[in-house]
Amino acid sequence: MVVEYTNGITVRGIDLWLDPRTRKDLAVVSHAHMDHVARHGAIIASPGTARLCAHRLGEVRTQVLRFGEPAAAGRGRITLLPAGHMLGSAQILLELDGRSLLYSGDFKVRPGETAEPLEVRHADILVMECTYGRPQYLFPPRDEVLEGIGRFIRRSFAAGAVPILLVYALGKGQEVAKLLGDRGYRVALHRSIYEGVRVYEEFGVKFTGYERYDGQRLDDTVLLAPPGAERSLLLRAIPRKRRALLTGWALDGRPKGGIEAAFPLSDHADFRDLLWYVEQVRPKLVYTLHGFDEEFARQLLRRGVRARPLRARTQLLLFHDLT
Ligand SMILES: [Zn+2]
Repeated sequence: MVVEYTNGITVRGIDLWLDPRTRKDLAVVSHAHMDHVARHGAIIASPGTARLCAHRLGEVRTQVLRFGEPAAAGRGRITLLPAGHMLGSAQILLELDGRSLLYSGDFKVRPGETAEPLEVRHADILVMECTYGRPQYLFPPRDEVLEGIGRFIRRSFAAGAVPILLVYALGKGQEVAKLLGDRGYRVALHRSIYEGVRVYEEFGVKFTGYERYDGQRLDDTVLLAPPGAERSLLLRAIPRKRRALLTGWALDGRPKGGIEAAFPLSDHADFRDLLWYVEQVRPKLVYTLHGFDEEFARQLLRRGVRARPLRARTQLLLFHDLT
């Protein structure tokens, strides 16, 4: 199998680009986060990703591929498998001449409320993200993190302040809106998160107790907003507020910029989950990508797994005989 990496991955003989960072005539898009999407001529994507890409980028020629349903591609075939990272997020399995390559995209092992649960398959070559590929990144159980967030909300209410949870607008925003709504909180959503919720609803995800935030007075209501919206007039106009950042990087310690708290709620795999994933895929060779790629490759080597990093923005041609 010949794998080429040039700001995107392709396998000779299949000739589909996986998550290319530059425009291609045809690209497979693993999920709708902007660091995985460019304005391609046409895309292949899961139903959820196709809809979210249309929502974010406008209509684009799309071949929708359902999870688990293989399609012919060049001399081989392609299958999308759920990645558990956000609605529609996919791992991409390419098979050619009896060999297979699995590209993880961004993935999460722990079950979430708004993404299709991760489904793992064996592959000969694994190309995987390792955003949290360092041993110190071990996320606590979700319920423990939610208890901490609950205390932050109650303390903010008691101080007469609006609790603002800063979350990435797409994926995390909907997950947190659902987690809080299901636990009886009233949530107001920044426009970008609200619009995402409406798309998720089209796919059958049920949300309760939410409203769109348009500058109205917020009593006993939690506001969800993306970090980029913090300085917007709408948020600046809130007289008393306390902000918390919801990100896996909360494990690094106190947040900066006057943000009062941070909680490690992530839509990625932590270090333990990354290792578990490799064990499940049982690859002959791993390429690491995104995050601590070199360090995680070393961690795998130490455990007897052949691994090496794929460096971003370099051009590599990789020829591998996996006999
Ligand atoms: Zn992502």
